[in-house]
Amino acid sequence: MISYDLDNDTLYEIAVKSLTAPSNAYFWDDRLYDTHGAFVSWAERGDDLLEESNYHSALDLIRGAAGDDADDHVIDGSSSHWAVGSLRTIYVQIRETPDPCDFQGCDGDSRWWREGIETHTQFCDDHRDDYEAEGLSYEPLIPPFTEAFLEAAGIVTALLDYPFVDESDYSEREYKRFEVNLEEAVDQAHKLNWEDTDLDREAILERAYPELGELYGQQANAEVSWESVAEIWEEARDAHFSELGSLHLSAPIEGQFLLVAA
Ligand SMILES: [Zn+2]
Repeated sequence: MISYDLDNDTLYEIAVKSLTAPSNAYFWDDRLYDTHGAFVSWAERGDDLLEESNYHSALDLIRGAAGDDADDHVIDGSSSHWAVGSLRTIYVQIRETPDPCDFQGCDGDSRWWREGIETHTQFCDDHRDDYEAEGLSYEPLIPPFTEAFLEAAGIVTALLDYPFVDESDYSEREYKRFEVNLEEAVDQAHKLNWEDTDLDREAILERAYPELGELYGQQANAEVSWESVAEIWEEARDAHFSELGSLHLSAPIEGQFLLVAA
């Protein structure tokens, strides 16, 4: 859990901001921007590794904080967006679900409460007036913030100071993607020399590996320059074949022995 000491005013501000729906947008779920605010987003089809890592890390943390309520309090939503294709967004329930109204047969949300003679009673907007009693006034009933919201608020606040939700998750993803991209670039370089055997490829790769490894971290989002890989590959390939060639030259040739014997 990310612990950030946020005062009530700050939490309130974050809640209001998260509940402000983007204009001209349609949402498939009534809870969005009503009880559930939007927190972290990720353009799934893009290649922004940091966004991807932060999204998954935040989702794990917020679901963890929500505990048994995770399925109700945390929505891993996906919507189509004109600019980025598919946009994943974490929606989080801001306040605990209100108790039902005390009025018999009503299942509306309690929004008001009043001290009674023996116990306090709570009512929805509709039934509040029906129970108006002399000398007794109603107080608004505001459920507490959910654990999921407190966690999400901590995460968005922390992100203002530091770009990673979980740096080790980011590094892991970065390295995995680098390996995939590198393999693709190596395949491409190898294809330029289609006559090389699989054994040649293995030997060249082994030779080129240290230098290929140095490409890690040189480009954003673990991208790998095909040009650099092709250059490194050619050099390793030349070295590989010239070594093979000199082995071949120094090997005894049958004819030589025949000549000597003759
Ligand atoms: Zn009611």
